[in-house]
Amino acid sequence: MSEHTIPYKIYLNEDEMPTAWYNLRADMKNKPAPLLNPGTHQPMKAEELSGVFCQELVRQELDDTTAFFEIPAEIREFYKMYRPSPLVRAYRLEEKLGTPAKIYYKFEGNNTSGSHKLNSAIAQAYYAKQQGLKGVTTETGAGQWGTALSMACSYFDLDCKVYMVKVSYEQKPFRREVMRTYGASVTPSPSMETAVGRKILAEHPGTTGSLGCAISEAVEVATSTPGYRYVLGSVLNQVLLHQSVIGLETKTALDKYGIKPDIIIGCAGGGSNLGGLIAPFMGQKLRGEADYRIIAVEPASCPSFTRGKYAYDFCDTGMVCPLAKMYTLGSGFIPAPNHAGGLRYHGMSSTLSQLYDDGLMEAVSVPQTAVFEAAEYFARVEGILPAPESSHAIRVAMDEALKCKETGEEKTIVFGLTGTGYFDMVAYEKFHDGKMSDYIPTDEELQASFDKLPKV
Ligand SMILES: *Cc1c(COP(=O)(O)O)cnc(C)c1O
Repeated sequence: MSEHTIPYKIYLNEDEMPTAWYNLRADMKNKPAPLLNPGTHQPMKAEELSGVFCQELVRQELDDTTAFFEIPAEIREFYKMYRPSPLVRAYRLEEKLGTPAKIYYKFEGNNTSGSHKLNSAIAQAYYAKQQGLKGVTTETGAGQWGTALSMACSYFDLDCKVYMVKVSYEQKPFRREVMRTYGASVTPSPSMETAVGRKILAEHPGTTGSLGCAISEAVEVATSTPGYRYVLGSVLNQVLLHQSVIGLETKTALDKYGIKPDIIIGCAGGGSNLGGLIAPFMGQKLRGEADYRIIAVEPASCPSFTRGKYAYDFCDTGMVCPLAKMYTLGSGFIPAPNHAGGLRYHGMSSTLSQLYDDGLMEAVSVPQTAVFEAAEYFARVEGILPAPESSHAIRVAMDEALKCKETGEEKTIVFGLTGTGYFDMVAYEKFHDGKMSDYIPTDEELQASFDKLPKV
């Protein structure tokens, strides 16, 4: 097929949007390991989880066999406000790099929250409302998840309490105001409002916080406030399920033009966008119908896949959450405060961890200055101001395209462009002023954190 027959942007019609989410676990021979009760080390039962999470979300979390979950009509209607998202052919980037590779990106930044997180936020808010809850609590790091959830909660008229990692709260006051515009309350974490926050502050005075701390606070408030549950924007199976909408749309768009990708690339924090993007492709791979190279990209400063241990660990710093088996740096790991590039969670989705352990996908880590170089290059060539998180995927997509330039191979590369970077200008400023450094944890630092992994 000649290049010109493929449009710059492949849009789907509304009637081509998915009507069901795809549950990748249904096709996995080795299922992800179950969540364990932190006290008894027995698999968490639905009854135990439903004190923390909404009922229907618990059902989705524990279901490893149902391949498709119908997307409720109200969620499909909401999706139509900002989906389908475009699959863009990066003609200009290809030309500028001088590569024979064909590069596509699925752009999830076309909504006010600025990222893919709205895909799961609206689903989680919907099920909370269905259950008759008053509100939900959550944590947010860079702020995208909190913003997405605030939007979703205001749509369904639910109360939303957000615990925001302190360093982001201070660096991103505008993000906070967007959340408040949608009616959420935003508290910097660790805070003095919760027992676990007070404990963390006593042990680490002056800490800039971490996602793990903020999760502990949000869970404490959810479980001690009647009519509230906790919701999480990444890592969990249910979140990957909702995010499969990204991959399903991508596959439909590619199929429309008979395009088969060779390499699929996504950034990985907790693994939700990557898990969603690759879902239908990995499904084909698991069923032996097709093969793809799948690459997770993570920051060198928070390298869960590439330097972590595959072990049961706490999902939060306060050790109140269930244990999950995952590639982890240890729940006490706090990335260096100079780390600006997002993706700072210590662990990785247990579904992706199992797939990685089974050799079905690869992972690479990249230092943050190389990520911002790619971000700036991409912004100038393709026009979109990318989020630092997304720029990890851009970096590796560009690196793979440059390898094709050397070998002359015309590979087709698809990557996930998860969001925009308008609220990340402090990080861009550091980069432009030459004040950004590449902190990479030492083996000793990681070992000290591994030593504190729970013995299971
Ligand atoms: C949250 C976020 C990520 C990382 O989260 P995953 O769960 O790993 O997808 C990546 N990009 C953007 C823009 C985000 O907001």
